[in-house]
Amino acid sequence: MMEPEIPFPVTCPHCGEESLAEFRVSVLADAMLGEPIRLYAKCHLVSWDASDVELENIRQHLEATQDLHAVACIANTPEGPTALSSTWAPTGLPTN
Ligand SMILES: [Zn+2]
Repeated sequence: MMEPEIPFPVTCPHCGEESLAEFRVSVLADAMLGEPIRLYAKCHLVSWDASDVELENIRQHLEATQDLHAVACIANTPEGPTALSSTWAPTGLPTN
């Protein structure tokens, strides 16, 4: 199965340019579970670990684009997707 990639905007630390970077769903799921996530910019050859603020921006972006559920579903954790949904408590996500 092809793992989908989800684009979201990142801001380049070098020039402040905003661009869309694509990340695999499992990477995003890990990030939402507290794993470090490496961001990169397209305008410069640079990558960096997402800050708490950037993680929050990613989470809000996923909520806004309805991708949060996909991320929660694919999250490979011992607790399963419910670990994500309970932590994030997004509205509209079915609880089971
Ligand atoms: Zn740049």
